[in-house]
Amino acid sequence: MEYFNVAAWREAARHDDWYARIQPEYQALLKRAEQQPNEAEAIKEAVRGFFEDRLEQNELALGGPDPALDAPRETLRQAVIHHSHRQPGYYTLARLNAVHLLNLYMPNSKGRPISSNHYRDGKMVFYGYHWWVEIDGTATRLLPDEAIGWQAGNWEVNCQSIGICINDDLTDKAPSSAALKAVRQILDDYRARLGSLEVIGHCEANPKTKCPGGTFIAGWKQALRPEDHASKPSLIV
Ligand SMILES: [Zn+2]
Repeated sequence: MEYFNVAAWREAARHDDWYARIQPEYQALLKRAEQQPNEAEAIKEAVRGFFEDRLEQNELALGGPDPALDAPRETLRQAVIHHSHRQPGYYTLARLNAVHLLNLYMPNSKGRPISSNHYRDGKMVFYGYHWWVEIDGTATRLLPDEAIGWQAGNWEVNCQSIGICINDDLTDKAPSSAALKAVRQILDDYRARLGSLEVIGHCEANPKTKCPGGTFIAGWKQALRPEDHASKPSLIV
């Protein structure tokens, strides 16, 4: 089933203002997804897949480097923890990139060609997170630390934080021990370099979200604390 005119969207995608050209149809699709819950996933899949393909095939008009976007970057003070809200296996990085383009960058495009100022392997990327952690503990760097990740729903926090996302649905459960260990390792590396780094959940930066799930604050957040060196035998030589 074709939910939108693919040929017309492909033509629109070649123009700098593609997001404005598709906007009426895009908004109508979002509304339809809201009103028809049984169709919602198929509609969103069609849209995500379309943009994933355009990005992969370099068929989407985008702006160029725009260092002003990252100019407000401040000293790193915080790490914001997220979950992908999906079962492992749903997100490829290409899919995540398309979803973040649509959810984070498209609504903020303001009449100019869309640019993130962020590149990975020579291609512009739209990831909101700096790190992506799989349940087997594999950690992938998505953005350099100099990049402001549009991840926290709070600009002040974005400017002074890195975003770390665990690729799992943690709505009602803690992460796998391998994922938790990998996040811990990332945090320890930053702490070693920066001296300190406050760890918060996405929900603590933006009360509108429950990310990274219901067991974070009272549960696995504690496992991400810096090691209590005072409780260890001191090493005196
Ligand atoms: Zn989040």
